[in-house]
Amino acid sequence: MIKQALISVSDKTGILEFSRELVALGVNILSTGGTAKLLADNGIKVTEVADHTGFPEMLDGRVKTLHPKVHGGILARRDFPEHVNALAEHQIPLIDMVVVNLYPFQKTIANDQCALEDAIENIDIGGPAMLRSSAKNHKDVIVLCDPSDYATVLAELKANQGEACYETKFTLAKKVFAHTAQYDGAITNYFTSLGADKEHETRSAYPTTLNLHFEKVQEMRYGENPHQSAAFYRDIHATEGALANYRQLQGKELSFNNIADADAAWECVKSFDETACVIVKHANPCGVGVGLTTLEAYSKALQTDPTSAFGGIIAFNYEVDGNTAEAVAKQFVEVVIAPSFTDQAKQIFTNKQNVRVLEIALGHQRNTHDLKRVGGGLLVQAPDAKNVTLAEIKVASKKQPTPQQLQDLMFAWRVAKFVKSNAIVFCGNGMTLGVGAGQMSRVDSARIASIKAQHAGLSLVGSAVASDAFFPFRDGLDVVVNAGATCVIQPGGSMRDQEVIDAADEQGIVMLLTGVRHFRH
Ligand code: 5GP
Repeated sequence: MIKQALISVSDKTGILEFSRELVALGVNILSTGGTAKLLADNGIKVTEVADHTGFPEMLDGRVKTLHPKVHGGILARRDFPEHVNALAEHQIPLIDMVVVNLYPFQKTIANDQCALEDAIENIDIGGPAMLRSSAKNHKDVIVLCDPSDYATVLAELKANQGEACYETKFTLAKKVFAHTAQYDGAITNYFTSLGADKEHETRSAYPTTLNLHFEKVQEMRYGENPHQSAAFYRDIHATEGALANYRQLQGKELSFNNIADADAAWECVKSFDETACVIVKHANPCGVGVGLTTLEAYSKALQTDPTSAFGGIIAFNYEVDGNTAEAVAKQFVEVVIAPSFTDQAKQIFTNKQNVRVLEIALGHQRNTHDLKRVGGGLLVQAPDAKNVTLAEIKVASKKQPTPQQLQDLMFAWRVAKFVKSNAIVFCGNGMTLGVGAGQMSRVDSARIASIKAQHAGLSLVGSAVASDAFFPFRDGLDVVVNAGATCVIQPGGSMRDQEVIDAADEQGIVMLLTGVRHFRH
């Protein structure tokens, strides 16, 4: 029979009803400042933790419940006489239930304007400590960190003379450890992302050992090829990312290649602010389009390379409507991804039961580390989070870009970041016109991109080109200009930069330098 509960919640959803029912069951409630006030204002009998411990909340709330009278009451083993005697000696009453949810750290940092100081003040210290104390002693303490569990726990208490069974307590404890791990993971990601955004001199040092936490989501039928066994593991610290919280609305189970390609498509499409569509095959975008509607974006993306788009992974960064779904359903598609789908769109896909339809919440946090397994080791790097702004870009040619060229070049540059190196991307009018990917020489990527545009029946006259790294010689530039490009964006930084810039002037085209390289392997 539980006698005493400690309630300290930032998210106060459902707390009044829950507390009222606990009082009706004869439970004494201890609570922190804001929560205690809310309960008292609503006529619920409550004792402030400060009165319980005889110690005021201090340091702007940084220390509220960090006191032996709180943690002793939670952590004492009820079946150890020494523990029970120690509590009696120090006059510490038992706490049988802990209801805590944490300062909203993730919500705070989701705001672009959030200052480091605000983020730090929203790191909960006493809350996780109480949650972990209770979860450790779950044999004797019921711990709740999620308002959606209030009703079921209450029903069990009522049906069982104020007791919860071991299985319930264990399940709640497991949830708490996952929750506090995720909370700490979000803090780690945030701190690391601050490091990753700064320039070279502030690169973060890597720890001597890596403590990575992944949990198995699914065994797969096979890996990249049918003779390889495979499984998918989720980063337990990930709060955002294609595979952190996806919801599969329909379709066959995701395969190894589906997941890899879905990730590539999602990372690319979410980098656009305007309505965009990205079609991926073998981890490379084979078509990207932006438009006023998802249908327009899709039609443009498809036009780039309809042959490769067959059996592709298609991602949108805006809600997919019925018209778009109808167009997409006409092609052979493995996976469709969007933040949401209208009811009509969902209905249309139900006629194509094999298509995997995924809903993924849009967010802009990224993985803390990029990992690449090599024989006998692991390469770790900060993710490529760099997005150049117009102010950082230099015009190297004599010719200045027109506003339309600037727009096309920025679009091309954005896409090139997601194409495997060496990447050459022709674009125009909000769509890719030719994508040259994964070649060992830049000049070959340029040739392939222009051949692909020809095959798709697209004109490259007046097009914009992005190159993910500098042109080591003028040959690659000559190929794209001869194909019709009138403006080029590239990092610059080659020994022969001057030769390449002179070639641009000789050909009378615009050349922009970003100073940033986007190799991708
Ligand atoms: P209240 O609104 O009741 O004043 O505060 C509730 C919040 O305080 C909860 O989110 C809880 O996790 C947090 N909290 C409880 N004890 C402490 C503590 O000792 N230090 C800090 N930083 N937060 C605490």
